[in-house]
Amino acid sequence: MLQEEYSDIRAAVRQLCQEFPGSYWRELDRERAYPTAFVKALTDAGWLACFVPEAYGGSGLPLSAGAAILEEIQKSGCNASACHAQMYTMGTLLKHGSDAQKEKWLPDIASGALRLQAFGVTEPTSGTDTLSLRTSARRDGDYYRVSGQKVCTSRAEHSDLMVLLARTTPKEAVARKGEGLSVLLVDLREARQQNGGKAMEIRPLRTMMNHSSTEIFFDDLKVPVENLIGEEGKGFRYILDGMNAERILIAAECIGDARWFIEKSSAYAGERQVFGRPIGQNQGVQFPIARAYAQTEAANLMVRKAAGMFDSGQRCGAEANMAKLLASEAAWAAAEACIQTHGGFGFAEEYDVERKFRETRLYQVAPISTNLILSYIAEHVLGLPRSY
Ligand SMILES: Cc1cc2nc3c(=O)[nH]c(=O)nc-3n(C[C@H](O)[C@H](O)[C@H](O)COP(=O)(O)OP(=O)(O)OC[C@H]3O[C@@H](n4cnc5c(N)ncnc54)[C@H](O)[C@@H]3O)c2cc1C
Repeated sequence: MLQEEYSDIRAAVRQLCQEFPGSYWRELDRERAYPTAFVKALTDAGWLACFVPEAYGGSGLPLSAGAAILEEIQKSGCNASACHAQMYTMGTLLKHGSDAQKEKWLPDIASGALRLQAFGVTEPTSGTDTLSLRTSARRDGDYYRVSGQKVCTSRAEHSDLMVLLARTTPKEAVARKGEGLSVLLVDLREARQQNGGKAMEIRPLRTMMNHSSTEIFFDDLKVPVENLIGEEGKGFRYILDGMNAERILIAAECIGDARWFIEKSSAYAGERQVFGRPIGQNQGVQFPIARAYAQTEAANLMVRKAAGMFDSGQRCGAEANMAKLLASEAAWAAAEACIQTHGGFGFAEEYDVERKFRETRLYQVAPISTNLILSYIAEHVLGLPRSY
């Protein structure tokens, strides 16, 4: 194994996670409840503000440190999906927000007074074809008037702010296809009250794991023009920029999941006696775990490479995508090995395996599906014709 980077940070995160054992997560999972205490503990310890510059009350750490934090959370059996958006949406505000916006929002985000946990891109009709999204933001004096619908918007009920991607110029009226979309920072506290609560409706969307997903309906929601991030019409580029960070961070979570599954599988395979010997003595049990371990180590190299390139300002679209692809597949291989190793007990709630199994499956679909990553590699790395 490579020498561990950020070992102090990792040790501190591990220690915090010990306060939130499997029983804590099982109960939330049953109720589909938000892990408020866990998120508060991470916030109080400053981990969710790791990318906020020191001048605004954060610790100004690089992406690779954030990746180490998220990996440790998952490796400890906890679930960072409740709060990881604060890390991966941060770059949009940091890179493209004005000084006034940073001064207004960042200190409160760093202290935990404000939660930036919602990211509204996906829509029911456009899906992965982000440029076809329909939610519109029409300029009207000092406001944008937002109408449309988002789906799978995680954590919106537990967030104060949302990074929203909306169309400010109709698709037919833009010179280049990537133009005409803009990023707004929506103050959800204010939006919930507007027009007697009719301007924005958030409906919970129950999913196979506890992910606090929602559907959001906007009906003429007024968002102040001062909440526009960067330039009008350039939002797609800002979001794409942030997506590399998102893919690398999620990949690190997958590495953490894979390590949790491998550790759990190896321990169980060594303990469980059937036919008078440990099941782990059988190669049929050993090999899938060993293979998942090899996949995880390889994927981890790509995650580190992508994070390093990101931190040094290099273009890392291909590496970020490959990191997410390989890490999500390694996590899934480890999850498969783990549930199989546990036999029937793998399906019992109390082992946490089935919960983690459901949780880690998501990452082959979100934030970008495996097929779309393969298309990216085919087109942008191998020079093959665009397939869609
Ligand atoms: C639990 C959960 C939480 C989420 N949280 C958020 C969030 O907070 N914010 C947000 O904006 N989004 C969120 N998403 C949405 C997520 O990013 C999308 O589900 C994902 O990007 C896939 O988009 P889609 O669901 O629209 O699938 P579609 O675009 O409808 O695709 C369906 C399937 O077809 C395949 N496909 C489509 N086009 C092609 C093609 N050209 N070539 C080959 N295959 C293709 C895809 O790979 C996929 O497997 C979340 C999703 C889930 C399930």
